[in-house]
Amino acid sequence: MSAVTTRQAALERINKAFQAAVERFIPADESKPLRGTTFRDFELQLQAFKADVIPIILEQRAALTDSAEVTEAGCCPHCGSQQTRWAGAPAQKEIRGPDGVIVLTKQHGRCRQCGRSFSPSGS
Ligand SMILES: [Zn+2]
Repeated sequence: MSAVTTRQAALERINKAFQAAVERFIPADESKPLRGTTFRDFELQLQAFKADVIPIILEQRAALTDSAEVTEAGCCPHCGSQQTRWAGAPAQKEIRGPDGVIVLTKQHGRCRQCGRSFSPSGS
């Protein structure tokens, strides 16, 4: 089992997304206009800010877990059998969370004993 990124790479990706979102909210270039006029306008803009940043933080955090990528399908979580195999290549899966779409890479295992499929990493 291992992470699929490093902390440094994850932080760089998060910081890049954060800085881009801040720039959209408050452009450093004073020739660019600030958007909105009311506090409600600002709140609505920050909803988009959250959607731009939080999914990336979640993706990076998931990529840092020790179980982000496993080398063996392991034990079936349904019946406990060790007779498992990989069921195809890892695939990108989109998950819609409260703050936007998160893209995770999922590995798929299949149990030879009970025939059910599962995610060996538990994602
Ligand atoms: Zn099973």
